Amino acid sequence: MTINVSKAFDYPGEYTYEETIPLEELQGLKGVTFTEAVPLKMLVSNKVGVVMMEYTAHSSVRVQCARCLKELELKEEHHFEHVLVRENDTGNDDFITAPGGVLDMSETALTDILLEMPLKFLCREDCKGLCPVCGADLNEGGCGCEMP
Ligand SMILES: [Zn+2]
Ligand SMILES: [Zn+2]
Repeated sequence: MTINVSKAFDYPGEYTYEETIPLEELQGLKGVTFTEAVPLKMLVSNKVGVVMMEYTAHSSVRVQCARCLKELELKEEHHFEHVLVRENDTGNDDFITAPGGVLDMSETALTDILLEMPLKFLCREDCKGLCPVCGADLNEGGCGCEMP
């Protein structure tokens, strides 16, 4: 999903956008399954020639507990801020490039959201995990195996 923000580059002021990244653009990610489209609320502002973009995104994802492999649904609200440039000749990777004023919001938001997610998820802090012998879920009581 792309958004044309060229007017924010051309005229000082504040511009708001509300868009949704469709679910089709959120597929095929390793370890994370989005279960709903991601709504975005964006504020793009041009103050003294610097174009800033702030936005909030709501993500709904299905992941697995790293210990007991139970599936978890997580819903989170994220907030991000970037400087936008039409061409990046500075070599500064913190800037988001919007070539010709067109911003790829799917790519930007996905990168931001995935970077903010932990590498491992736990269903709860003290998840006991699975028995290494029989595979029983140890959160649901002992299985009687001798622990190696
Ligand atoms: Zn667990
Ligand atoms: Zn066991």
